[in-house]
Amino acid sequence: MDGTFRVSVERNRLRFAAAHMATFADDLEPLHGHNYDVFVDVEGELTAESWVWDFGELKRIAKEIADELDHKFLLQLRSPHLDIVEDGSGWEIRYRDRRYRFPRADVAPLPIDNTTAERLAEWFAARLLRALEERGASNVRRLTVGIEEMPGQAGWYTVSVR
Ligand SMILES: [Zn+2]
Repeated sequence: MDGTFRVSVERNRLRFAAAHMATFADDLEPLHGHNYDVFVDVEGELTAESWVWDFGELKRIAKEIADELDHKFLLQLRSPHLDIVEDGSGWEIRYRDRRYRFPRADVAPLPIDNTTAERLAEWFAARLLRALEERGASNVRRLTVGIEEMPGQAGWYTVSVR
């Protein structure tokens, strides 16, 4: 048979609560938050023991990444619209007449241009892929991450490996 195997883990403890302000067109959303749910899907060849990846370990790795975002302000460091200044104690964000100041410990600075669910999924997938590769993931062929902002509203990113 010509088929593919994949495993998925999602929601339950794979979630994070975070604040953000996305930009769209020429505007900046008001500061607000979501209870984000995370979906992870790993496609690959079976190991000699017939696994793609151990569920427990996959959940543990993904939860560690989600925990980095939990109870943080998600800051799009590469925004072309925000004026972002980092100093010794934290971050200042300026947009037109708006000024926000966040202490360092409250911020998850992310190398993305906007805190859309799509970009968060891409960031999460890159982190997860690196973590799997550090654990010798030679059998992984494709990785998909979904970031759900609210039930029924999610952004997805899929990366193919080799
Ligand atoms: Zn939002």
